[in-house]
Amino acid sequence: MEWISAKTLLSKNKHQDWFGHDYTMNLYRGCHHGCIYCDSRSSCYGIDHFDLVRGKENTEDMLRRELASKRTPGVIGMGSMSDPYNHDDVEHQLTRKALKLIHQYRFGVSIATKSEYVIRDIDLLAQIQTQAPVNVSLSITTANDMLSQQIERRVSPSSARFQALKELSAAGIYAGVLLMPILPFITDHASNIREIVRRAQEAGAKYIYPSFGMTLRENQREHYFRWLDKLYPGLKEQYIHTYGMRYGCMSTRRRQLEQVFQEACEKYGIIYRMPQIITAYKWDRGPMQLELF
Ligand code: SF4
Repeated sequence: MEWISAKTLLSKNKHQDWFGHDYTMNLYRGCHHGCIYCDSRSSCYGIDHFDLVRGKENTEDMLRRELASKRTPGVIGMGSMSDPYNHDDVEHQLTRKALKLIHQYRFGVSIATKSEYVIRDIDLLAQIQTQAPVNVSLSITTANDMLSQQIERRVSPSSARFQALKELSAAGIYAGVLLMPILPFITDHASNIREIVRRAQEAGAKYIYPSFGMTLRENQREHYFRWLDKLYPGLKEQYIHTYGMRYGCMSTRRRQLEQVFQEACEKYGIIYRMPQIITAYKWDRGPMQLELF
C-alpha cells in the first residue's frame, strides 16, 4: 500500500441527514473492492487510480489532535468514499486504530462496509456503544453470491456479509443493510428485494435503507459500461436508450419494488426511513447517549 499525506481527517457535516453523521472521515483514498458501479470513481471526486488503495499518513496523531480539539463529541461516518475494511486494512489496521481513539474521546461511529472483516472490531464497537452511538451498515445489493462476485468483484460475497451482520447483531451492535444501488435490468427484481429483506431479518438487521436505482456520471459511467459489455453484451445499449446521459438512473420497476420492499419490511418489523433509523441508533440507545449527544 502507498501512503499519502492529508491535511485533515475529520470533515464537519453541515447537515446530518445521512445516518446522522456529524463528521465524515476516510482513512484511505481509493478502494480495491472492484464494484463495477462504484460512484466514488466519478471524475468529480478527483481520485486518480481509484483501484489503488492509499493510506493516510500519521492517522493516529492527526486524529488524536482533531478529536481533542472538538468541543462536543459527535458521530463520525466512515465508508463514504472508500471501504474502511479494504484488504490493506487487514495488515495496517488504520480503522481499528481510529476506533480506539474514537472510544477514548467518547465519540460515536457509523460505518458502511461491504466486507466481512468488520467483525474483527466487534469488541471495540461494543466498547464505543457503551458510551456513544454506534451503527454498522452492511451494503448488500443482491442475495445471489454468484452475481455479487461478478458485480462486486474483490469483496466478500453477499452470504458472508449477511453472516457478518448476524455476528454484529448477536453481539448487540446496532446494524442493518444499505440496499443500494439497485442496478436496472440486473438486480431490480421483486424476488431479489424480498430475499434480501428476508435474510436481513434472519440476520437480525435493525433497518434496511434502500435506493431503487443507481447514479451514473463521468468516469463511473464509462467504467460501468465497459463491465456491462464484458458481462452482459447488449445491456449497455439498453441503458443508453433508457437513460441517455442522466445522472440518476432509477429502475423502471421502482414503484413495484418500493411496494414489495415496504410490505416485506412491515411484515418483519424492520424500519427503513432515514429519520427513524437515525433516531433509533443515535437517540434511543440509553440515558448516557442522550446526555452526551
Ligand atoms: S466497496 Fe464501496 S468504495 Fe469500494 S469499490 Fe465498492 S462501492 Fe466503491
